[in-house]
Amino acid sequence: GSTTAPLLKVERARKQFGGVVAVNDVSFEVNAAEIVALIGPNGAGKSTTFNLITGILTTTGGRIEVHGKPVDNTPPQEVVKLGIARTFQHVKLVPDMTVLENVAIGAHLRGRSGAITSMLRFDRGDEAKLLAEAARQIERVGLGAEIDQLAGSLSLGQQRIVEIARALCADPELLLLDEPAAGLRHMEKQRLAALLRQLKDSGMSVLLVEHDMGFVMDLADRIVVLDFGTRIAEGTPDAIKTNPDVIKAYLGA
Ligand code: ADP
Ligand code: MG
Repeated sequence: GSTTAPLLKVERARKQFGGVVAVNDVSFEVNAAEIVALIGPNGAGKSTTFNLITGILTTTGGRIEVHGKPVDNTPPQEVVKLGIARTFQHVKLVPDMTVLENVAIGAHLRGRSGAITSMLRFDRGDEAKLLAEAARQIERVGLGAEIDQLAGSLSLGQQRIVEIARALCADPELLLLDEPAAGLRHMEKQRLAALLRQLKDSGMSVLLVEHDMGFVMDLADRIVVLDFGTRIAEGTPDAIKTNPDVIKAYLGA
C-alpha cells in the first residue's frame, strides 16, 4: 500500500495495577534502523512499557503493533518469533558455563526460524546448527576471542555483550535493552555504543531504557520521555536536552 506500518507502534498503551496507572495512554513508534531511548525518573513506567511490548504483562488499554499487526497480550515466546528480542536489567548468564554455552542455551527457545524452538524435537543436527549460530553471533559482537571462557570470568561490560549475542540468535528486527550501560566503565560504555551503532548500520532497531544521559544523548536518534506514566516529551537528543518539561521532571520541580 501507500503507507508502510512502522516496525513497532505503541498506541495509547495503558497499564493499571489496581489504582496505580503505571503507563498512562503512552504512544510512540520505532522505525527500521533506528535507536530510540525511553527515559524518565524512577517509577515513570519504563520497565512496565517494556514488559507490555514483550508480552510479560498484558495491557489494560490501547494497542501495540509490530508491522501493523496487534501483539498486545501475545505471550513472550510468540513476541520473540515476531522479531522482538530483549535483554534484562540484571545479567542472567550462568557464570560456570562458557560464553558459547551461555549464548547457545539462551538462544534455543527463541528465534523466528522455528527450527530450534522445541526441546522435544531437538536432535544432533539442531544442536550443531544452534552452536554454529551462537558462534556466529559471538563473532559478530566482537567476543570471538572469549568464546571458550567462562562467562563469570568476563568483565561486566563483556557479559552485557554476551547477553546481546544471545538475543541476536533470535534474529530480531528490534532489540530491547534494559539499562545496558548501568555499572559499566567508560571504555565499556564506548564499546557497547559502538556495537549498537554497528547493529543499527546492519538495519536493526534498538529501543533502550537507560539512565546514563551521556550515553543516551550520544547514541539515540530519538528520545521518548515518560514521567508518572505519561509521555511528556519526544524528540531528538538536542531538543530533549533543552525541553523545559523534561528538565522540570528530572529536577523534581
Ligand atoms: P520505571 O521502570 O520507569 O522505574 P516502573 O514501570 O517499574 O517504572 O513502575 C511504574 C509504576 O508502576 C510505579 O509506580 C511502580 O510502583 C508501579 N508498578 C510497577 N510494577 C508494578 C506491579 N507489578 N504492581 C503494582 N505496581 C507496580
Ligand atoms: Mg524500571
